[in-house]
Amino acid sequence: MDKKQIYMDYAATAPLKKEVLDAMMPYLTENFGNASSPHAFGRAADAGVEAARKQLTDALGAHNGRVYITSGGTEADNWALKGYAHRNARKGKHIIISAVEHHAILHTAQMLEKEGFAVSFLPVDGMCMTHPEKLKELLRPDTILVSVMTANNEVGTIQPIEELAKVTHENSSAVFHTDAVQAVGNVAIDADAMGIDMLSLSAHKFYGPKGIGALYVKKGVVLDNLIDGGAQEWGHRAGTYNAASIVGMGKAIELATQNLPEHVAKVTALRDELISRVLTIKDSQLNGHPTQRLAGNANFSFAGIEGEGLLLVLDLAGIAASSGSACSSGSLEPSHVLTAMGLEPKYLHSTIRFSLGDGTTREDVEYAAEQIRIAVEKLRALSPIYN
Ligand code: PLP
Repeated sequence: MDKKQIYMDYAATAPLKKEVLDAMMPYLTENFGNASSPHAFGRAADAGVEAARKQLTDALGAHNGRVYITSGGTEADNWALKGYAHRNARKGKHIIISAVEHHAILHTAQMLEKEGFAVSFLPVDGMCMTHPEKLKELLRPDTILVSVMTANNEVGTIQPIEELAKVTHENSSAVFHTDAVQAVGNVAIDADAMGIDMLSLSAHKFYGPKGIGALYVKKGVVLDNLIDGGAQEWGHRAGTYNAASIVGMGKAIELATQNLPEHVAKVTALRDELISRVLTIKDSQLNGHPTQRLAGNANFSFAGIEGEGLLLVLDLAGIAASSGSACSSGSLEPSHVLTAMGLEPKYLHSTIRFSLGDGTTREDVEYAAEQIRIAVEKLRALSPIYN
């Protein structure tokens, strides 16, 4: 019998949908032209790029500005922060980010700090939730930019973006950016109605191709270029268009938006089943908000074991999960997210993230819950700190 393989790491990346691949194929074959070339081959590729831009604009409710194509979420985040800060430094040098941002925002803000910008961190509560009144306290006359992610990649908490944007605009002249990389495809977004000035996304999180993303920039918000060169993207982001991936991103966001309510309902039910089964394990807890969380996210801690060890044991049982950002940095330090949430020490080092998606079945959830129980018991039996 083939070994069971269960993928529960959709927050790291999701597989390409068949319809997305089908939409991309012509742009990897006959429509191979450079989308900036004026001849028929170029025009065919350009038509695909512009149709995708419209799909992105419609899906995001982003009609009051421009959707720029980037190489992914990391570039979009870098561009939003560095581009805005550099361009607008004369207005002020204070930036606010949440304490639980992805490294694409956190490390970018730290680079700006080295250049002389001041960075304040919006705290979160024990469920990873930010609070608009705390943001109000941090805003200063020299604050130029606020960046708070729509949903957290580790523990899945969905932030009150509309309220945070409102507080920002009512109490300062700062612009509001959100990293919606984990949210797109899981949370309904209407950028203009929500008061969002800039928004980052990444196609591979919503069943599109990897290495492609976008930054929405509202009209009137001006950024320095991050990547200089040719005249692509109205002269603001250079480089030959990856037409196939852009077309794939457009198709993926269209499908994600059309299927959003069904997708969220299906995946939430599976996630809740996993949560209720896993929480029957002694000395375990769910991290993040119990209800305001991404449909597929279930992040747990188990006292007495290391998350990394659990990850390895589950991998042997055919289950792919994630220990959060600690593993990607190669360090065993607890993540800045869990630290900001103030997790109890016994739970801080023992977290593991399961992220469910389109391909997850009830059978997968039952198998995973049972394997988690077996693995936790096995590791605890070996643990010098658990009795
Ligand atoms: N922001 C968040 C919240 C993410 O989860 C990720 C990826 O995990 C990124 C940004 C980076 O996106 P990309 O992989 O497209 O560079």
